[in-house]
Amino acid sequence: MASKMASCIFCKIVKGEIPSFKLFESDKTFAFLDIQPLSRGHALVIPKVHGEKLTDIPDDHLAELLPVAKKLALATGAQEFNILQNNGKGAHQEVGHVHVHMIPKPNPEEGLI
Ligand code: 5GP
Ligand code: ZN
Repeated sequence: MASKMASCIFCKIVKGEIPSFKLFESDKTFAFLDIQPLSRGHALVIPKVHGEKLTDIPDDHLAELLPVAKKLALATGAQEFNILQNNGKGAHQEVGHVHVHMIPKPNPEEGLI
């Protein structure tokens, strides 16, 4: 686990070793904008503790992930949004640190981005 943490880009983002556009931080949780957003406001919410899959993270470090994703969804003003969470390469997980995607749908009056 320690060696994976050392090379983990999301652990580096939490520590400020890689820059990110931070949206939220608490003692257990960190949220930032996705570098390749699928829509404006596409955010990632992660536990600060390293773990590859949801099943690797203790419940008390998962508890804030959805409430923070919900706050960020509300903050975008999007009326519709997707919450997505991939576990394992075969399930399209590219970064091996648990993360919840919050992907707002553009409101119809704002057009496509
Ligand atoms: P996954 O496919 O693992 O669920 O999604 C990983 C997400 O992390 C992708 O949407 C990708 O754009 C994002 N990502 C990868 N590297 C970085 C990075 O260095 N900074 C930020 N902000 N997002 C990243
Ligand atoms: Zn990590």
